[in-house]
Amino acid sequence: MSIQILPARLANQIAAGEVVERPASVVKELVENSLDAGATRIQIDIERGGHKLIRIRDNGSGIDKGELTLALSRHATSKLKTLDDLENICSLGFRGEALASISSVSRLSLSSKPAHQEDAWQAQAEGRDMAVTVKPVAHPNGTTIEVVDLFFNTPARRKFLRTEKTEFNHIDELLKRIALSRFDVSISLKHNGKMVRQYRPVQNENDTIKRVAQVAGKDFLAHASFLESGDEQLNIHGWILPSGMATEPQYTYVNGRMMRDKLILHAIRQAFEEVCPNQSIPAFVLYLTIDPRQVDVNVHPAKHEVRFHQARLIHDFILQAVKQAAEPTITGLHIALPDDVDI
Ligand code: ADP
Ligand code: MG
Repeated sequence: MSIQILPARLANQIAAGEVVERPASVVKELVENSLDAGATRIQIDIERGGHKLIRIRDNGSGIDKGELTLALSRHATSKLKTLDDLENICSLGFRGEALASISSVSRLSLSSKPAHQEDAWQAQAEGRDMAVTVKPVAHPNGTTIEVVDLFFNTPARRKFLRTEKTEFNHIDELLKRIALSRFDVSISLKHNGKMVRQYRPVQNENDTIKRVAQVAGKDFLAHASFLESGDEQLNIHGWILPSGMATEPQYTYVNGRMMRDKLILHAIRQAFEEVCPNQSIPAFVLYLTIDPRQVDVNVHPAKHEVRFHQARLIHDFILQAVKQAAEPTITGLHIALPDDVDI
């Protein structure tokens, strides 16, 4: 048996196995790139649940013509230079793998124009070595990435794709989570040419509430209690509802990054169990803010989980904060007062 270096496409396809599970994971990586590029407007076009087309257009910083090839290469990132940076990471991406991975399992084209550049250019990686070709294109300031025929060359992956509707629902759900992480950004989502969601940029407190209601539902917001606790080093805020409906949200964020972290979810569930056992499914939208040096985000390729340096302390902090906020809610919820009672 002889040892060989894998062709670029194959190496990238193997890496893609970790982050590109389904159309929604592609949308996640691309939208996060747009956010990292400082975009304030992101337009998402999906065709056939993302099987056929995923197009993300943003008005962010764009990519210089000379860097388009690099952007499509593996381990190429503008977000990280040293190990120190990794310990203090503020961008959503940093692994430099998403574009290379996605383009190895689809027909991906990347069009971009930074404001300082006269013309726009489009890049595409082809063949087993993923050689990049670059050509001129018409494009406003910002970036558009088109992902066509996802998994066309990886039948094993394609087999796992669900129906158009299911895959689209995953995308819609993902964007709800993102919409509640960046209130300042306008996000629109089309499916098969039809506008499905429009999240307008938030200008004031009232708009914030509107967006939460739009995403999480009016019922959730009407019944949930607001919670805020902690200091500059460590704090938590958001909305909780001990007995939500199955359709209501269970969203958590750490420093603006959406998470499905076991420790956080455990602390929240324990709080609800202690305060109101036997309640149905709790619903919550919670934001944890912590010194970035106290948390390691580089533990999961899709970055769903984090590692807290002081895990116990964080767990108990969340537990106490949620418990405290949950207590008045149950009394408020379960004592149904007639309308004319004066309190
Ligand atoms: P990462 O996000 O981990 O850096 P990616 O493969 O997702 O890796 O992207 C590679 C690089 O391409 C990024 O570091 C960034 O410089 C550039 N890039 C990707 N998408 C965009 C975008 N929408 N706007 C501007 N630059 C982008
Ligand atoms: Mg990225």
